[in-house]
Formats: sequence, C-alpha cells, structure tokens
Amino acid sequence: MPTTDPETTTPSWQWPETTWRRHVDAVRAGRPLRPERWPDGARVAVALSFDSDHETIPLRDGQTSPGLLAQGEYGARVGAPRVLALLARFGVPATFFMPAVSALLHPEEARAYTRDGHEIAVHGWIHERNTLLAAEDEKELVGRALETLTEITGERPTGIRTPSWDFSDSTLDTILDLGFAYDSSLMADDEPYEILAGGRPTGLVEIPVDWIRDDAPYFTMDRYGAVRPHSRPRDVLEIWRDEFDAAYRSGGVFQLTLHPHVIGHRSRLTVLRELLDHICAHPGVWYATHADLARAVRTAPPAHEIPEHTS
Ligand SMILES: [Zn+2]
Repeated sequence: MPTTDPETTTPSWQWPETTWRRHVDAVRAGRPLRPERWPDGARVAVALSFDSDHETIPLRDGQTSPGLLAQGEYGARVGAPRVLALLARFGVPATFFMPAVSALLHPEEARAYTRDGHEIAVHGWIHERNTLLAAEDEKELVGRALETLTEITGERPTGIRTPSWDFSDSTLDTILDLGFAYDSSLMADDEPYEILAGGRPTGLVEIPVDWIRDDAPYFTMDRYGAVRPHSRPRDVLEIWRDEFDAAYRSGGVFQLTLHPHVIGHRSRLTVLRELLDHICAHPGVWYATHADLARAVRTAPPAHEIPEHTS
C-alpha cells in the first residue's frame, strides 16, 4: 500500500512543497554516530551479518514448489554450518537476522548462533514485504517474530533488519514501539547515525546497509527472467576489499550483509574466507556484532571531524 495520504494520490509533479518535504523528512538521517575512537583503540569496526532467510523467500510469495524450497533448505543444511565453522576458525562474531518462520523450521540452528557467541536479531515473520501490509499487521508480525526468537533462543533480540530492507510508512513507529535499540535497513550513510522522525531525534541507532555490500544482487538470479546478474566471486571480493580498505583508512565501519543460502556455496565461501584473511591481516580491527556496534556508538563521544566521504 503506497500511501494513504490523499494529497499524494495526485502525481508527484503536482505536489506542493509541503508534501514532498513531509515525505522526505518522515525518516531521515540525524547526527552521525561514528565515535572518536573504537573500543580497544581499534582503527575500524567490522560488523558481519547473515540473513538466514532459507525457505522464507519463496514462502513469503506463497510459492511452495519443492524446487524453490530446496534452494532455501541449502542455506540451513549446508550454508549456515559452513558459515559458523568459518567464523569459529577466525574467532569473529556476527549477527544473524532470522525470520521467525525460518527459526521455527530450524530451531537448533537459531540456538547454535547464540551458543557460539553470535547475535540473533529480528528479520520479520516470514520475510514479508512491509510496504504491502497494513500498519497493524506489520506491527503484529514483528512483535510475534520478536517473541518467537526469544522463546527459541532464550535471548531477547535488540535489533531488527526489515525483510528485503523494505521500510513502510509505519516501520519506524513499529520499531520504536517495540523498543528495539537499533535498525539495520536504511542506506543514508556509510557510518552509523541516529534516525530522525519528522525532524525529531528518536534515539534509534541506524547501522546502515547497502546493496554493494550484499551478496544477493551479485549472485542470485531469476530462472525465468531475462537478466543474469551472476558476478564472478573474485570480482565481488575486490569490491568488498576496497570497501573495507576505505573504511579502515577513514576509521569507520565495514558492514557486510550475506545470506547462508547464497554465500554458503563453495566458490563463494572461498571469497569470504579470503576477505577475512585480508581483514585479519590488519592491526586494530574491532569485530563487533551489530548490537555491540549500536551500544558502542550510543555511548562513546562522536568524532568531531567531517566524515571522509571521499576516501
Ligand atoms: Zn532477508
């Protein structure tokens, strides 16, 4: 449902300034939260995340073909164990955003995340598209997902990533009402920032994402679509290395969004291993879950210099 605002049923070129300003200001980046220094005097913060969607991508669209579900099953059966083993080998923590239906299908996997010292966080009920939902339905599903992950793992998540980073007009209210400490779905900066609602600070930390630092657009495809976006894994490694190197130079955050059913394949996991080799060869790296990062940027004094956007 695009909007219920009667003013916006008119074409955008006929909107008065108050209308387009109100929409732009509804959810906006506020003060930058990159701190003066990272914990332990580190030069860069590295926040890895894995969205354990598994079977919920086809289920979300009502697609029940065993062929499609098997692609998601690969994420749980093969991808997630490989990812956990790789993280254990490097001793690096990560955040796993998991739809509640995925956690109900794979409760042992959800518990393995927290048992191994990683963070589990909310990623919708069944990977629903928030912009297609009524506000009350969106809130009910997120609330149910929060309770479900808490029951399964015994730990109450403090963070949320909206499925497909789909952010409706009601999403921010839902996140604030349910008391989350951070969101990780928006793209207004490379570095964490505070979210403004209608120009007012909300206290909510945004840990921004971007499609550049996501495996899905490089590697997934629609079998019956004309586009074949497959990229060579080593080309993607180069992009992510450059992203890390620039974050390192500017003293910022390197955040990555991966999916066990995507990155868990052999040729791609090789790239993740080589990326971690590259990162771990640098001194002064702080490896943080998204919750750790949100806590650090909320409590530390912010950096005073202008963020280096050109590095
Ligand atoms: Zn997802």
